[in-house]
Amino acid sequence: MLKYFLPNQHVKTVFDIQPETLKERGIKGIITDLDNTLVAWDVKDATSEVLQWFKIMKDHDIKVTIISNNNQERVEIFSEPLGTPFVYSARKPLSKAFKTVAREMELKKEEVVVIGDQLLTDVLGGNLAGFYTVLVVPIVKTDGKITKINRSIERRILNYMRRKGKISWEE
Ligand SMILES: [Mg+2]
Repeated sequence: MLKYFLPNQHVKTVFDIQPETLKERGIKGIITDLDNTLVAWDVKDATSEVLQWFKIMKDHDIKVTIISNNNQERVEIFSEPLGTPFVYSARKPLSKAFKTVAREMELKKEEVVVIGDQLLTDVLGGNLAGFYTVLVVPIVKTDGKITKINRSIERRILNYMRRKGKISWEE
């Protein structure tokens, strides 16, 4: 069971993920979380760095879709200026949104990476749906209410995995 909480890769920020390395591995699509992955959860709009990252992916024909558990208003206001497809109220870690998006991208599971900052939603959901998962360090330490509970569970899982030698990164 615990293996589903283990990401395939761990990076500091989403900007460490670049098209060249993705393409080497045959990746053609990205499913990314929004809050604390692309911007802090309380930041409304994409930063210039985020805009640039989306542009680079587009230039390399890598499709990006945002999947968020947050509400329509939040996800729509952020995503529309980026011209990127998005799913709000996605109910991660349920597999449905991940699978639907891969189908809409017309890509196979092996061609898509799932990126997010939370083990209990992004990593668990991506793993259960059969995707390659990448965990990023949350942009800010603060969180919304529900996320706070998830974080305390997450902390325990991470500590356990660290003790078992399953993860080697430092935070
Ligand atoms: Mg998040």
